[in-house]
Amino acid sequence: MRIFCWLSCLCLLAALATSVGAAAPTVRADLLFVNGNVRTLDAARPQASAVAVAAGRILRVGTDAEVRAMAGSDARIVDLHGNTLLPGLADTHVHPAIGEYFNRRLCNVAGYTLEENFTRLARCAATAPAGDWVVAYGWYFTDNPHLSEVTLAQLDAAVPERKLLLIARDSHTVWVNSKTLAAYGITADTADPDGGSIGRDPVTKAPNGVLRDAAAWRVLLDVQHHSAYSVSTAELFLTAIPYLNSLGITSLFEALGDDDIEAAYQALDRAGQLSMHVSIGFAVAPDTYRKMIPKIAGKRAHQTPHVTVNFVKVLADGNGEDNLANILPGRGRPPMATHGYYTQPQMNELVRLAEAHGLSVYVHVIGDGTARQVIDAVAEARRHGPCPRCRHTLTHLQWIDPADMIRMKELHMIANLQEGWLAPRAIGGPAGYDYLKDTAAGPMGPALAAAMYPFRSLHEAGVPIAAGSDWFYTDENPWNDMEVGATSRDPGDAASTPMVPAQTLDVATLLAARTRVAAYQLFLERSTGTIAVGKRADLVVVDRDVLAVPPSTLHATRVLMTVFNGRVVHELAAGH
Ligand SMILES: [Zn+2]
Repeated sequence: MRIFCWLSCLCLLAALATSVGAAAPTVRADLLFVNGNVRTLDAARPQASAVAVAAGRILRVGTDAEVRAMAGSDARIVDLHGNTLLPGLADTHVHPAIGEYFNRRLCNVAGYTLEENFTRLARCAATAPAGDWVVAYGWYFTDNPHLSEVTLAQLDAAVPERKLLLIARDSHTVWVNSKTLAAYGITADTADPDGGSIGRDPVTKAPNGVLRDAAAWRVLLDVQHHSAYSVSTAELFLTAIPYLNSLGITSLFEALGDDDIEAAYQALDRAGQLSMHVSIGFAVAPDTYRKMIPKIAGKRAHQTPHVTVNFVKVLADGNGEDNLANILPGRGRPPMATHGYYTQPQMNELVRLAEAHGLSVYVHVIGDGTARQVIDAVAEARRHGPCPRCRHTLTHLQWIDPADMIRMKELHMIANLQEGWLAPRAIGGPAGYDYLKDTAAGPMGPALAAAMYPFRSLHEAGVPIAAGSDWFYTDENPWNDMEVGATSRDPGDAASTPMVPAQTLDVATLLAARTRVAAYQLFLERSTGTIAVGKRADLVVVDRDVLAVPPSTLHATRVLMTVFNGRVVHELAAGH
């Protein structure tokens, strides 16, 4: 497979080279797009009307006449009817298997009131597949703070006959009923496990049906592997990847990879069914990174054509809402002053070890203290020598000190942002929910609330911006996310007050963050991310010129066609 690809690519390039100046081109296009608005994202030729594709690669970008002249005898000619052709988009922070499982396979019971929560749970129980379990997803504390008042009796009343597992939107909390507690022997005498806790009645200490983090893992694993809800990672990818294609996505960064996820992508790729460029970030922890980094580097020797390994994924602190973000001293209120999950010497060693093995780090950074810690570690590594191949990336960046933005640029680091986080829906809460006000009043305090999501500041400091959704947790639709990034309002909610208007970005920057810059972050800039001759034909046809329409209409963008490596992988039937 790989040898064949190499041979065909070399032949194509040789043919392209010989066609320059020759009387007639030797390669004929098999797929043509004409009569369109081609936004190439390539500074050398930003706009054109037509594109020719041959053997999966872009053969020509130009006028209709120039491109039609390249057509082979049985080429498919797509009349764009003035629609817009863009490079295929990337999602540079996504968890496709878990996103598919939680959001598209489980019953969603999200709601903003307890009544809604329980009505949806009852409906879910009534339609659950036959078996021992009722499994649901989606309750969330910021959607509805009254969820903390839910009692075990209410959960038992909603699902009396079968075991219940209800997973919170952020997956850190689950609710179970008495049947589940009994099946797992969880009682007033059960101790909290390391890294987790059992919710309890304050007087009797009896479990109240809430399990957090490690306390829920046995239940989650059982449901995933031994229930009517069981499904393999490979089966999830079989529907998740085409679904992401249908949104216009042709490249992704798997933000929490492990051996099972890698094997599932590779199996699909070997079967010719992986319609996505995949870069896997393999997770490490403070007690595993020394052992894991050489192992991750070793994986590069046996990758399949569309799966690459360039990153170590590092979870360096927790979330602001849980008081687990690493905030610099003097910012926020006292409970916020946690120190993250790594010491500075550990982070220094981790970065140098990754670099020594040809890997970059991709770090979950919420607090400004963590941003500084990682930047200090990269600066320390630079004192020992250059690293031209490094693409160290900080993801989320809910807070970062302005001085550290300049250092990120100087150290050639990349900011990986979730554009969709600039509006309240990503955080939760009913329409009109004021996350900033809530944050200012809580333990984070007004100074941190005002400094949240410094997206435009990073851009203005010259830091390259790549973007991704962080699906399962937040909206996977890139057009919704771009609208939020440009407006700081929930998609389609043009009348609401923007949440962080000072940090919105222009659509051109947001589109580059999903194409050209994203491809650079993923080490794919030579093969994708712009529409240019010789690159892979990863293309998306949409029904509007996203760079010209009002940003508040981006959520309504319809993806008419997605092309991966020159192959049509999504096409909306005419009339839809
Ligand atoms: Zn994530």
